[in-house]
Amino acid sequence: MKVKDMTRQESMEVISSGHLAHLACCKGDRPYVVPIYYALDGNCLYSFSIPGKKIEWLRDNPHACILVERFRDAQSWKSVVISGHYQELPDTGQWHQERIHAWSLLERHANWWEPGGLKPVSQPAQSYHAHVFYRIDIEDITGRAATPGEPWGREARQLQD
Ligand SMILES: Cc1cc2nc3c(=O)[nH]c(=O)nc-3n(C[C@H](O)[C@H](O)[C@H](O)COP(=O)(O)OP(=O)(O)OC[C@H]3O[C@@H](n4cnc5c(N)ncnc54)[C@H](O)[C@@H]3O)c2cc1C
Repeated sequence: MKVKDMTRQESMEVISSGHLAHLACCKGDRPYVVPIYYALDGNCLYSFSIPGKKIEWLRDNPHACILVERFRDAQSWKSVVISGHYQELPDTGQWHQERIHAWSLLERHANWWEPGGLKPVSQPAQSYHAHVFYRIDIEDITGRAATPGEPWGREARQLQD
């Protein structure tokens, strides 16, 4: 297997061709990661949630890390790591239009709202007004891709023999 760094453009193509990611946030020295759906537009990933642990933590500390991956098999995969900044899009004044925009991007995928809009049945239902739309502004991005093949060339094969 060979691993190479991807360019920013290659990494952005991986993000734009999917909509499932893992979002990590941090409180003190404690990390927390959950799967989320997203929609990419420009330099932002948009997503939707209802209040809970990740939203509380991101309100407190807006630094986020997002992992997007494409896994075909153990020798063929792409993986993109994004460092970004959380920006909530409340249904007020300057944010209203962008909130509607986020909604319109996310609703292109069937059942986009369900995983983020439902809590375990033991918890009380949330009202519409509790729905949180937010974006993660991409600050830094790295990508790696693996393909099948010899990792080091002829010299390494001779060493192994
Ligand atoms: C394919 C997929 C897509 C999803 N898309 C979205 C999305 O777009 N938006 C969104 O908000 N959520 C999405 N979810 C659900 C998400 O992963 C979280 O479960 C949910 O957002 C609740 O997170 P919270 O921090 O508000 O947890 P809370 O409801 O506040 O609960 C916190 C507690 O529950 C545990 N917990 C929370 N979520 C999970 C989990 N997934 N697995 C195991 N333990 C958990 C935590 O460890 C913590 O102890 C998706 C899940 C999947 C599998």
